[in-house]
Amino acid sequence: MGPSAFDYGDWEPVIGLEIHAQLLTRTKLFCGCATSFGDPPNSHCCPVCLGLPGALPVLNAAAVEMAVTAGLALGCQINHRSIFARKNYFYPDLPKGYQISQYEEPLAVRGHLRIEPEGGEPREVGITRVHMEEDAGKNVHGLGSDSMVDLNRAGTPLIEIVGEPDLRSPPEARDYMKRLRDVLLFIGVNDGNLEQGSFRCDANVSVRRRGDETFGTRVEMKNINSFRFVEEALDVEIRRQIRLLERGETFVQQTRGYNADKRESYPLREKEGDEGYRYFPDPDLPPLDCDEAFVAQVRSRLPETPAQKRARFVAELGLGDYAAGVLCGHPRVASFFEEAALWAMGPRRATPTKIANFILSEVLRDTTIDGLDARFTTTPAQIAELVALIEEGVISGKQAKSLYQSLAGTDQSPSSLVEALGLSVIADEGTLEALARELVDKNPKQAESYRAGKKALLGFFVGQLMKATSGNADPKRASQILERVLEQDGG
Ligand code: ADP
Ligand code: MG
Ligand code: ZN
Repeated sequence: MGPSAFDYGDWEPVIGLEIHAQLLTRTKLFCGCATSFGDPPNSHCCPVCLGLPGALPVLNAAAVEMAVTAGLALGCQINHRSIFARKNYFYPDLPKGYQISQYEEPLAVRGHLRIEPEGGEPREVGITRVHMEEDAGKNVHGLGSDSMVDLNRAGTPLIEIVGEPDLRSPPEARDYMKRLRDVLLFIGVNDGNLEQGSFRCDANVSVRRRGDETFGTRVEMKNINSFRFVEEALDVEIRRQIRLLERGETFVQQTRGYNADKRESYPLREKEGDEGYRYFPDPDLPPLDCDEAFVAQVRSRLPETPAQKRARFVAELGLGDYAAGVLCGHPRVASFFEEAALWAMGPRRATPTKIANFILSEVLRDTTIDGLDARFTTTPAQIAELVALIEEGVISGKQAKSLYQSLAGTDQSPSSLVEALGLSVIADEGTLEALARELVDKNPKQAESYRAGKKALLGFFVGQLMKATSGNADPKRASQILERVLEQDGG
């Protein structure tokens, strides 16, 4: 899409996202069944999550702690008392006929998130609330007309994060979704897996004339499962709404889906008003009590958010904003860098910025990211030592790259491999000087111009020397020696 892709002229989009994120607990929200993904259908079910009469829910304390962690990381106020409510509706994947959620008194309210959309202004946007609820099961549409239900997911703990209608463009919505996911990933409460549905987004959008105070009628776009699609689906829907309004037509509040192949949104249903759900407090569950001491305890263990980590990498380790941002794109990548930087504060020194650059240019290419996990082919200590070897002048940057390749999958130390592979830079005076003389003799014209004052030609000679040694010379030594040889041969 071109630069003017999200230009809507006189119209201004208003967007608010509702995000459902699965909490990484081992067991479900109200029973002891496993939350593991991908197992045989209906292998993790019990009377509670099947909704059998008389079965009583027992709240999972780990889920509460994760939800409070998320609320705090998003700058919310944690309500000391919150209420579980029944949201009543009928659908085959909902065995009880209601979903346990929170309604009037949610766990956390009034948070905020800083967005930094590409090409846009960074700013804080509001988070209305974070509440806990259970997930539904899954309808499995089999061969022919058969439909079956898998209830393994029924009762899995979720948090719903309702955003304020503060977003004003599809790229802002995309950035918000991405940063929110990263926060949850970094605090370890969610695996951020959009394809498997453990992080899901419903996007609400309306349009209004620029300058208008009131919001237009909104459409809720359901289940947008990628960052790219949130941008694309919103763009398509915004244009549809503008087209209708410019023709003088009106439309009702509704829920729509997005067909990425056709680049079209399509109606799913008229939006259910809250009355339709007949919410009421769940009589089987007492109010949730998160007292000040508990909240303070969770706060004291709160991991850094990606934004905090990035700021620290810049302020304390001297990294550039870009490098810090890339490293803080995933918690395991950030900790890989941190471990390497820590190692390099020991007896063998390496500069954090150099370590960061090596990770960005080499290590990340070989890193496999899978949800919260990341697989590296080397260890932080190996990378730190490798960079130390460059800085100590033992190997060249180019040699470091091939050494890095040989380290992959081994537990060897870079220093031991330097010898085994016969690597190490030519820093020896005699060898370098002989090479330098040879080069000066072979390039008399350039040598003459250099002596006549074109000092920039030193770079040419250094380049030639590096080429002659296949990059195995220490460039700093090489340039000192060349300078001397060029001056000496003056007569
Ligand atoms: P519901 O209970 O129907 O889901 P909410 O009031 O909780 O409705 O709002 C849901 C989401 O819709 C929120 O993220 C909010 O920011 C967003 N939203 C509300 N009004 C508008 C609007 N006019 N245009 C765009 N988004 C909106
Ligand atoms: Mg809602
Ligand atoms: Zn169960």
